[in-house]
This record gives sequence, C-alpha cells and structure tokens, in this order.
Amino acid sequence: MVGVEMAFPHPRGGLEYPMACPICTKPADAKYRPFCSKRCADLDLGKWLGGGYAIPGDDIPDEDNMPGPDAPQRPH
Ligand SMILES: [Zn+2]
Repeated sequence: MVGVEMAFPHPRGGLEYPMACPICTKPADAKYRPFCSKRCADLDLGKWLGGGYAIPGDDIPDEDNMPGPDAPQRPH
C-alpha cells in the first residue's frame, strides 16, 4: 500500500493526467487504464458479467414497446 500522494507522478507536460482507478481509486496504470491493474480490470468486467448490472433480456417485459390494451398511458 503506497501513499496516494506519492503514487501520483507528474507526467511530462501534464498532458496525460493519471486517472483514478474506478475500482480502488488508485492511480491508473497506462497498461490497464482506466484501471490500476489487471485485477481491477477483471473486477470491473466481472461486475458486468456477474450480475452486478442487470442485462436486459427476455425476462423483462417490454412495456414500452408492447403496451397492452389494458396498460395505462403513463406520461413521460
Ligand atoms: Zn484498482
């Protein structure tokens, strides 16, 4: 565990400011950005694949696309 302040180097010219890893907020590695490591990149990928996010599928009724005759008109 390195100090956060020390882990932020100043890039030449300041053109590429290091991003913070969205997983652990450590400085991102250019190789894995915006993540700091492959582990964090895999963690983020796992969130998408593992059910952290709901993926639209056949289980979700298409209320907007197929309004039944009994469906009330909901204003947007
Ligand atoms: Zn990270």
